Amino acid sequence: MHEANIIDGRAIARTVRDEVRTKVDAWTTRGHRPPYLAVVLVGNNPASASYVRGKMRASAQAGIAGDTLTFASSLTESALLGIIDQLNADPGVDGILVQLPLPRHIRAQRILARLSPDKDVDGLHVVNAGRLATGQRGFVPCTPAGIMALIDRSGISTSGKHAVVVGRSNLVGKPLIHLLIRKGTDATVTLCHSQTRNLARICRDAEILVAAVGRPGLITQEMIRPGAVVIDVGINRVDDPSRTRGYRLVGDVDYENARAVAGWITPVPGGVGPMTIAMLLSNTFLAAQRSH
Ligand code: NAD
Repeated sequence: MHEANIIDGRAIARTVRDEVRTKVDAWTTRGHRPPYLAVVLVGNNPASASYVRGKMRASAQAGIAGDTLTFASSLTESALLGIIDQLNADPGVDGILVQLPLPRHIRAQRILARLSPDKDVDGLHVVNAGRLATGQRGFVPCTPAGIMALIDRSGISTSGKHAVVVGRSNLVGKPLIHLLIRKGTDATVTLCHSQTRNLARICRDAEILVAAVGRPGLITQEMIRPGAVVIDVGINRVDDPSRTRGYRLVGDVDYENARAVAGWITPVPGGVGPMTIAMLLSNTFLAAQRSH
């Protein structure tokens, strides 16, 4: 029976992280201080706290210095703006990451807009979105950057291919279409979202199919063109009493059945997820390098 090639995100992320470590070592050997990442965490969302711990651990392993600035959920928007201003002005800080989501009384767009675009290692500032859209150098959001690295490093060609992206978030879907269409990558892109008609038919035409929705099982076997590259960005919890924690993580793709049709596929977990952190490290090193 046919089985898709598995794109091993953990292995590729390890390679990217090792490469960042090598670059950081060369950088500090030349007399520079290590790159420094400031992570701002507001409130006590356990998932956010765990993501932040993962990011800090990976940074330390890559030789990147940093601190997590933790604040109670009662922090006001103006106080947070003041903290961002301080980090922007601090020459010892190369990258700033504001962990999302923020508490409801703080407008995330206002906070992101206050970041110095040149320290915005998550690539979420409108200036970086604009730079990406117009082909200028900036910071690319980590998840779409990670998706492109998975495709490139698997030796998959994109030129002239039809890529279908499902999901139009500022974090994943929208920046990804710019990466896919840029010169050198040269895919032809269709973006689908919750109001798209005939999703199954459009997906079935995809040579590269990216699902970034957050709905387990949305992409079924019938929606996949034989031999297609399937990138599953979704991270969903589904009940699983056989696990001690009571749930397991799945993507947006019906993985077991998709494997029988796809040419390449990313698992969840172990696909796109590990790449997001690897690209954050890569962006933080770039921020340090560019500030000199
Ligand atoms: P989001 O939640 O902001 O938006 C979801 C998108 O899906 C919307 O654009 C919506 O139009 C579209 N959508 C909803 N229902 C649909 C349907 N039935 N058919 C087609 N499109 C539909 O999206 P997000 O923040 O990009 O997150 C998407 C998923 O990716 C989530 O599961 C999230 O946890 C995951 N995610 C993973 C990583 C990672 O590192 N692997 C990073 C970011 C997000």
